[in-house]
Amino acid sequence: MDLHDLYGDIVREHSMSGHNLRHLEHPSVVVPGRNPSCGDEIDLELSVEGDRIKDGSFTGVGCAISRASVSIMLDLVRGRTLDEAAELARLFLAMEQREPLTDRQLDALEEAVALKGVSNMPARVKCATMPWHTLLNAVEVARGTD
Ligand SMILES: [Zn+2]
Repeated sequence: MDLHDLYGDIVREHSMSGHNLRHLEHPSVVVPGRNPSCGDEIDLELSVEGDRIKDGSFTGVGCAISRASVSIMLDLVRGRTLDEAAELARLFLAMEQREPLTDRQLDALEEAVALKGVSNMPARVKCATMPWHTLLNAVEVARGTD
């Protein structure tokens, strides 16, 4: 079974696409995300103006699931407020903890719903959730730098 069969095109494309794998010129916050159980080590960079995420990117290395998850996440939160980003992160983490979400909540997660199936693979859940925990940390840091 390869990733294409398991997770579909969205995850495969994001895991291979490098469009979010870069440094920002002037990041407001840089927060490390680590998942020692797999070896995923990323740094999340956000450019925040006021309470809004103007841009985001990541650097580092990770498995296909973690790379897809962080890339999907960055596309989702770019342009959102810090509050909106934190709420989306909480929704994603609830989904991976197999909590029941409404259709409206799942719709709000957009492409990230493609990672729902990872919740059936306990060994890989941390790969998918690590970027979103890192996002919550980054939101807290960004709020502290106002
Ligand atoms: Zn991983």
